[in-house]
Amino acid sequence: AQAPVPANIQAAVDAAFAKYKGLKEGKNADYIPALAKVDPNLFGIAVVTADGKVYSAGDLKTEVSIQSISKVFTMAQVIQEQGMDSIAKRIGVDATGARFNSIIAIEGVRTVVGTGAPEMNPLVNPGAISATSMVTGASKDDVWNKIIGIHNDFAGRSLTVLQDVYKSEADTNQRNQAIGALMFAYGYIKTDWQQAVDLYTKQCSIGVNAKDLATMAATLAFGGKNPVTNKQVMDPAKVPGVLAVMATAGLYDDSGKWLYRTGLPGKSGVGGGLIAVSPGKFGIAVVSPPLDDAGNSVRAQNAIADISNALHGNPLSSP
Ligand code: GLN
Repeated sequence: AQAPVPANIQAAVDAAFAKYKGLKEGKNADYIPALAKVDPNLFGIAVVTADGKVYSAGDLKTEVSIQSISKVFTMAQVIQEQGMDSIAKRIGVDATGARFNSIIAIEGVRTVVGTGAPEMNPLVNPGAISATSMVTGASKDDVWNKIIGIHNDFAGRSLTVLQDVYKSEADTNQRNQAIGALMFAYGYIKTDWQQAVDLYTKQCSIGVNAKDLATMAATLAFGGKNPVTNKQVMDPAKVPGVLAVMATAGLYDDSGKWLYRTGLPGKSGVGGGLIAVSPGKFGIAVVSPPLDDAGNSVRAQNAIADISNALHGNPLSSP
């Protein structure tokens, strides 16, 4: 992969920031009450390259809750611990074609076809709660320390939970509790499902800024080695599995549209974050809370698509 030229990266970041700063489309998520209160004008872009350099525009400091982007790193932890087959066999790696918190993903295929495994993956809620349940540990604290630990390693600093978001979601996550119970009933969760839902809710409340997210994306872009801290945080041979699931399901039921537009494995969260990975070239992230109907940040999708296009980031196109 040919590395993009620094001056071009900064120019592309600045241009996307200027172009989309005033874009008012989309709406903050409000099914988690704390998310409705986040400033919709918050907008930060960061690109991290192989040498650990950060190119940015806008707000790099303000933290949002990581939300569904955490699903990538908990999946990475399970794959790192238990191998590529663990996730593929227990949960699956196929698109659901349904919204991220749909129970159709659990029930649909059974109801329609009557046999066979449902279409599911670790980046939608049923599969994600199962992935959290698969992280091993002698106690709940042990499991949590591994989950926050892998997030810290990918981000290159110690992250903390945004307690107001955690409490707000824990008070209103009856739907995810139902998903956890159903997944337990069907045998996808073998351990305490209530613990899995709670830890999943907590991991979704980890606070991150645009720079953290871009560093996490860059660690995936460079074979599991964090280019800022130089720590190898994941076995390079296992990274393509993580990226494949992101390409399949990272933007929920709009994952196909996103892949068609950019070619980039990506992952969004309802806190307004979006990460994308151009393998061997860069990691990129945008934070901007207003979401489209599928639950993906509007400014983030536009900014990342433009910047990647300017930097020839699409891994599906020939050099
Ligand atoms: N914690 C959120 C939920 O389970 C995450 C959803 C998301 O970011 N898409 O509803």
